[in-house]
Amino acid sequence: MRCLFCKEDSSSAKSIEHIIPESLGNKTLTLPRGYVCDKCNNYLAREVEKPFLEREDMRLLRFQEDIPSKKNKFPLLEGNWDGIPVEVKKEIHNGEVIPSIGMPPELLVKILLHPQEHYQMTVPAYTDVLLPPQGSITSRFIGKIALEALAHKLSSLDDSLDQLIDDKQFDPIRNHVRRGSPRAWPCHIRRIYSHRKSWIDSDGETYQIIHESDFLMPGITKYDGQNPVQAELYFIVALWGMEFAINLGGPCIEGYQAWLKEHDNASPLYFGKNDPKSMKP
Ligand SMILES: [Zn+2]
Repeated sequence: MRCLFCKEDSSSAKSIEHIIPESLGNKTLTLPRGYVCDKCNNYLAREVEKPFLEREDMRLLRFQEDIPSKKNKFPLLEGNWDGIPVEVKKEIHNGEVIPSIGMPPELLVKILLHPQEHYQMTVPAYTDVLLPPQGSITSRFIGKIALEALAHKLSSLDDSLDQLIDDKQFDPIRNHVRRGSPRAWPCHIRRIYSHRKSWIDSDGETYQIIHESDFLMPGITKYDGQNPVQAELYFIVALWGMEFAINLGGPCIEGYQAWLKEHDNASPLYFGKNDPKSMKP
């Protein structure tokens, strides 16, 4: 078995790869052992996922929505108690998320001296207007999810992993994710629904969408001699309502922008799916 990213032998790999990190709420969408070697798995966690997950907006989302990391940890936030900075923590005890504050001594003194006073404690809040910007932190993170989602989609077909590994069309995106070269790879980023949106299923039960994804081929095909080459293969993923689109075929996004224009800015995740949820952002 070979690794999807470095193409080296990965038969002895010990880790299961989470396509979307657990720190964004994914528990089940994974690649079997060996799809990604341990070296790449570690590298991607440290150099690709962590810089994205540690962005201030992602920390706020993870804290506010109680999304624990693989190690059952939450980000630590700096709160404010009447002008005094306090550390605000969340921890899991007996399966429940318990918030706590690290109280500095001067605050304890203040409370002891003025026990009747009205105090206000605040922590920064996550809001829907916060979107990650363009840049290699975002595009490498989304590119990693895209390549792994493609491997997952093809995983039921024989030899599909080898074909994906040997397909030179995917070398540029692979190198962008694994080596940061080429450096720039544009993504399309927007919000298509609130991170707090409740959906209702046919039984009247409410639910929330943590993540969803799909592929889009706008139908622009180039020819390499006689053989068709798919020049554009878009991966579209929504994470807590933030929609990201990336072209696995090359560092350009114009085909997606053209598709959006033709489809009245609908999301490909919903367009034409004959779903009651079908919607425009
Ligand atoms: Zn590898």
